[in-house]
Amino acid sequence: MDVYSKETRSKVMSKIRSKNTKPEVVLRKALFASGFRYRINYSKLPGSPDIVLPKYKTAIFVNGCFWHGHDGCKYATIPKTNTKYWVNKIEFNKARDKINVIDCVRLGWKVITVWECSIKRMTKLNNQIVNKILLIVKNKKSRIYYL
Ligand SMILES: [Zn+2]
Repeated sequence: MDVYSKETRSKVMSKIRSKNTKPEVVLRKALFASGFRYRINYSKLPGSPDIVLPKYKTAIFVNGCFWHGHDGCKYATIPKTNTKYWVNKIEFNKARDKINVIDCVRLGWKVITVWECSIKRMTKLNNQIVNKILLIVKNKKSRIYYL
């Protein structure tokens, strides 16, 4: 059985889906504090990346672990009811995410996917993700990263 009733589940899901979700805001604030300037929900690129660093031609997708199917993540547990529906939906999202990443890369952009759970682990004292992003945009040559 699903731990939530059908009603609560759909509320929980719509909360997860909404824009300006908390992990994204946390990351944005940390980036800003580190001197990054960015655009958000950038519709000129495939998949409308959540955060774009124009100066570094880098697009950042902040992925909710459930919706985007973070493999092996405790936040990505498939509900026990309507399992087939959720599996299909999430597989579809994953496939679409991959295409968006590749399309952005083809346009000459670096793409960093940051998982929600990584941001949840980030604290003010532990800005590991921002440091990694800094390293990637300034020094790294490859185009695709998952944090
Ligand atoms: Zn995760």
